[in-house]
Amino acid sequence: MIKIDQYFDPASWQKFTQAAEGRETPFLVVDLERIKTKYNEMVGLFPTAKIHYAMKASPAIEVINVLADLGSNFDCASVYELDRVLACGVDAARISYGNTIKKARDVEYAYSKGVQLYATDSELDLKNIAKYAPGSKIFVRILVEGSDTAEWPLSRKFGCHPNMAIDLLIQARDLGLVPYGISFHVGSQQRDVAAWDDALAKVKYMFDWMRNEENIKLKMINLGGGFPANYLSEVNPVQVYAEEIKRYLSDDYNADEMPEIILEPGRSLVGGSGVLVSEVVLISRKSHTDLKRWVYTDVGLFQGLIETLGEAIKYPVYTPKMETSNSPGTVVLAGPTCDSADIMYEDTGYQLPEELEIGDKIYWLTTGAYTNSYSAIEFNGFPPLEVVYIK
Ligand SMILES: *Cc1c(COP(=O)(O)O)cnc(C)c1O
Repeated sequence: MIKIDQYFDPASWQKFTQAAEGRETPFLVVDLERIKTKYNEMVGLFPTAKIHYAMKASPAIEVINVLADLGSNFDCASVYELDRVLACGVDAARISYGNTIKKARDVEYAYSKGVQLYATDSELDLKNIAKYAPGSKIFVRILVEGSDTAEWPLSRKFGCHPNMAIDLLIQARDLGLVPYGISFHVGSQQRDVAAWDDALAKVKYMFDWMRNEENIKLKMINLGGGFPANYLSEVNPVQVYAEEIKRYLSDDYNADEMPEIILEPGRSLVGGSGVLVSEVVLISRKSHTDLKRWVYTDVGLFQGLIETLGEAIKYPVYTPKMETSNSPGTVVLAGPTCDSADIMYEDTGYQLPEELEIGDKIYWLTTGAYTNSYSAIEFNGFPPLEVVYIK
């Protein structure tokens, strides 16, 4: 069982509990101040890089405004995210279109709004960009390793083999686009810093090839996201990631030829800003001798905890009785809906106090990323997750 001081100093925790007081569960409390701190930390660690916040982690206007004021750039994955960030007054020059899967008319729309930096990983998408966003800068996303050490791997859905990426960059030039750079994503909540080393080795090979064989000088490397948030499993602090990545880069490039670096953090920027507050609806056992209690809470996979699918992301789960209880017991944690997939943790072996009762509050820590943006609209009639923003 965890103690709250492993995650928050008393003053920060008090901010969350004050915001939660008297409110009906479930709801997510997001402390915008913590997002500022994380953003500034990232800027401090990568002072020359451009940060393009991956909006899908939390596309809330409140979050966008905070990051926009701090000077962040944005990576959007759809015209809806694009409209959202533009409506916040962000100039199109600060926006990239990072989704390689998009309709021709979405490219046309983004271009009409001024977006001139696009990701691609296929010939047909590239041709759409050439036609509907002429003259834009292109970065090609490559497939990289790392899925076995990422807690939320991004699989083979995005990216292409470096040889194909080289062909696409050459074709981009021939189509009147700017072959600008290369991107990758090593998988979200990536525990192994060396995943960036492997990916950067591929990128270096491509930079050299393009210069020597095609006389194309690529200008940018997009290192994607993957930086960790603070869940149950142990990870290195983001400082260690930054030091290692900067070392890989300086091994590969002299200072005077260092490419422009783009980072696209999502989870690491906003994950730690959120606490999801729920309450115990029911506690039961499946037989008289069942060793595990089933604890059903008023949040589940459909109210924001979708990343517990496959028990992938292991949120720290806290209830105040943990501070005093000496009798932990193994539980299955499940949500309130009538879908049997609505079980968060069955095999992980979460422990909650034996003293736990119906009505007790359960706090899901580090839930600022990929929660409210995934919450269902009305499955089983449950409303979408309410979010309370504090400063
Ligand atoms: C989701 C995504 C990110 C953010 O990844 P995190 O692991 O949350 O930091 C960055 N870039 C792209 C292209 C993405 O799809």
